Amino acid sequence: MPHYPATPPSLSYEVYPPATPRAREALNTTLDALAATHPDFVSVTYSGTPERRRTTLELIHQILDHTRLRPLAHLTCVGESADTLTDLVRHFISLGVRGVLAMRGDLPADPNGERGEYPFARYLIELIRRVEAQNAVALGAGRLSIGVAAYPVRHPESPSFQHDIEVLLGKQRSGADYAITQVYFRPEEYTGLVAAARTAGVSIPIVPGLLPVDDVRRLERLSAMTGVAPDPLLAAALEAARTESERTRIGVDFAASLARRALEDGAPGVHVYTFNKHRGATELVERLELPRRRADARLDSAARVGA
Ligand code: FAD
Repeated sequence: MPHYPATPPSLSYEVYPPATPRAREALNTTLDALAATHPDFVSVTYSGTPERRRTTLELIHQILDHTRLRPLAHLTCVGESADTLTDLVRHFISLGVRGVLAMRGDLPADPNGERGEYPFARYLIELIRRVEAQNAVALGAGRLSIGVAAYPVRHPESPSFQHDIEVLLGKQRSGADYAITQVYFRPEEYTGLVAAARTAGVSIPIVPGLLPVDDVRRLERLSAMTGVAPDPLLAAALEAARTESERTRIGVDFAASLARRALEDGAPGVHVYTFNKHRGATELVERLELPRRRADARLDSAARVGA
């Protein structure tokens, strides 16, 4: 078994709300398969459109009521009023959610589109901490854990990588407990982010976000969305692969090698982007030979990443 400095490393997955009844059925199978690996939490993506907001809340409900998984609710502040955000955070608390991934969200494509009351994620973090203080009774002695986004490759709107580091420090000062990274394709991008963050005074855990990608078109779409250029060798290998299982293996191999390097360099755990498919995600986790995960190990590592 490989030796990883952070023992036991945390394990989490990202899923998104299904758009059709068929996708909902497929997601049920995915959630069962993910639950079998005993993750610390499963994060549920968020988008501010009313329909997507409803499906996000439904999925959180489903995870809480019908699985053994613990949900982490994503929340974005772009286009939203402080009142709406306050209501949503209160609603999360009333459902039993205890972890929020607080982000700004992508700006509307239309320059005249509604940007909302808060221009940056750090204001959302502060709002969540205020709502938490008002709901201390509902939370018992507990506390909401707040995660934030971090960028191994410069955020597309940011003037520099160093600026991103200062923004991450600001999020920590506003009350963030840990960060999860955007996808990246070179091991040194994660280690470079952590080194620069530590030098700047960021002390919260920074969990690498990993994608066992099995589809070259998805890789291209992701690159357009995030501004992270796809690895050319990975893209070529996926393009040349003939079968789905070959593509899965290629994506898992690539993500496993990134994850192993990050864990050997001291990463506190791994967060796996699943795109609602379990095969690549669970194969990746198996490949990493994470120390045996049990319910009690889950609590230890969850406490470390603040989930
Ligand atoms: P911020 O930290 O507010 O930064 C946004 C931009 O503003 C950056 O360029 C930053 O450098 C700049 N900035 C920040 N503060 C300042 C300041 N004080 N002065 C000047 N410039 C500043 N999006 C969704 O819509 N839904 C999701 O569910 C979702 N999940 C995600 C999960 C993860 C793990 C990650 C990494 C990203 C996710 N995203 C999601 C995407 C995210 O919303 C975008 O990357 C968004 O563009 C930035 O969000 P942020 O929270 O990092 O913003």
